[in-house]
Amino acid sequence: MTTGELYADLTRRLSDLTAIEETLGILQWDQEIVMPKGAVHARGRQKATLAGLLHQNQSSAALGGLLQRLGERGDLDDIARANVREAHRDHARAARIPEALVRRWASLTVQAHDVWVEARKAAAFGQFEPVLGEMVDLAKQRAAAIDPGRPAYDVLIDEFEVGMTMARLDGVFAELKATLVPLIARVRARMAQGGLPDASWLRSPVPAERQREVGESMVRAMGFDFDRGRLDTSVHPFCGGAGTDDVRITTRYKETAFLGSLSGMIHETGHALYEQGRDRTLGDQPVSRARSMGIHESQSLLWEKQVGQGAAFWRPHYPRLQAAYAFLAAVSFDDFVFGLNLVQLGNFIRVDADELTYPLHVILRYEIERDLFSGALAVADLPAAWNAKMVQYLGIEPPDAALGCLQDVHWSSGSFGYFPSYTLGAVYAAQFMQAARKAVDVEATLGAGDVQPLLGWLREHVHRMGSRFPTDELVARATGRPLDTAPFRAYVTEKYSRLYRL
Ligand code: ZN
Repeated sequence: MTTGELYADLTRRLSDLTAIEETLGILQWDQEIVMPKGAVHARGRQKATLAGLLHQNQSSAALGGLLQRLGERGDLDDIARANVREAHRDHARAARIPEALVRRWASLTVQAHDVWVEARKAAAFGQFEPVLGEMVDLAKQRAAAIDPGRPAYDVLIDEFEVGMTMARLDGVFAELKATLVPLIARVRARMAQGGLPDASWLRSPVPAERQREVGESMVRAMGFDFDRGRLDTSVHPFCGGAGTDDVRITTRYKETAFLGSLSGMIHETGHALYEQGRDRTLGDQPVSRARSMGIHESQSLLWEKQVGQGAAFWRPHYPRLQAAYAFLAAVSFDDFVFGLNLVQLGNFIRVDADELTYPLHVILRYEIERDLFSGALAVADLPAAWNAKMVQYLGIEPPDAALGCLQDVHWSSGSFGYFPSYTLGAVYAAQFMQAARKAVDVEATLGAGDVQPLLGWLREHVHRMGSRFPTDELVARATGRPLDTAPFRAYVTEKYSRLYRL
């Protein structure tokens, strides 16, 4: 067979796999948004069947053979070669994990989730401890099946952030700690002095319907394409759907926290713009997929924090916001921007954390996971290790496990190695923004209410690139350097020194 014929066979098979994945995406969205409660078991069966079908096809010897033959051909173009590389990675992972382990994993995560929900309610770590121990053991087996030659935690991180390692993260996170811990101490000292702008207006009640109208207009202003996407309400906000032409974002509304839904919508729109900006001609192929969790998060955080917490972006929109929310009439523009960036030092919960403290919540979890998998930390000692790090990094000690080590859903679903992606996203976002500023007058265009120049830069350098290049190469092509914490450290130091008059 010619290379062209082999490659056409591959793209047909991969297109089928993508269709199953997209269907699972719609089932998941439906489950969280509109499915009647009584359908939960039927939905479980439907998802399990499709997931099984996906795994069967992804791990099949036929696909493996095809990928092997194509890998040996020297006449593939760059995009086809990248597509084969990405598909091979998916296939190798699926093929190496034994069927029995896949089933054990699926049933243990369902059980662990139920146990975690109850344990968190009771703030009782002891209830969660045995099943968490089992999850860690099973995750080690899973990692050993995928790659017995590497440390388990490196293999797990790699599922979310291809190519990332503990050796590298240790360095990245040490740099962030060295900047953030003393900067937060200075903010704390400044807060104790008083005289900072009042931000109590942040708790002013706003009806959900009004929040939805304002939020939707901002989502539109950011360039979200409603012909290829939707905005709905869910308990946990997410960006999902069925590929680049069907991107579904959700938010939630709390009457006394209007900024939460607004910044949440801006965040999910950042994810959505990445999905809608993928190369549509390759939309059913792995090469067009988002590069990694960290790069995905870089797009949401770039819009939520770098853009959406900045003065330039809000200057043209603030009068409209004041017209919609009467209490803002008494809030000056500068005080509004201060409120957008409010640092909350007494907060125990990661998902509620501000931009400055968030990375420390992540670093704490990373260090705990790393030590759990190396054996340096026993599962039983987790709460004590957690609390000690909270005191060390943030100066506060959680009063119970619900506000401490039981707060996140990740471990109950077996997502070990996921947390670092959140903060890698913040670091990449600062790098992308710094590079975009060199090419585009970001302040002037955002200040004029025009997001297109910045969005165009992201489309060209990140969104359309998909998974064409390894992460370091993608970032280096866009910014001139691979992962580098310097832009993020400079950004937070400048911004919070200015806002808190340090
Ligand atoms: Zn996100």
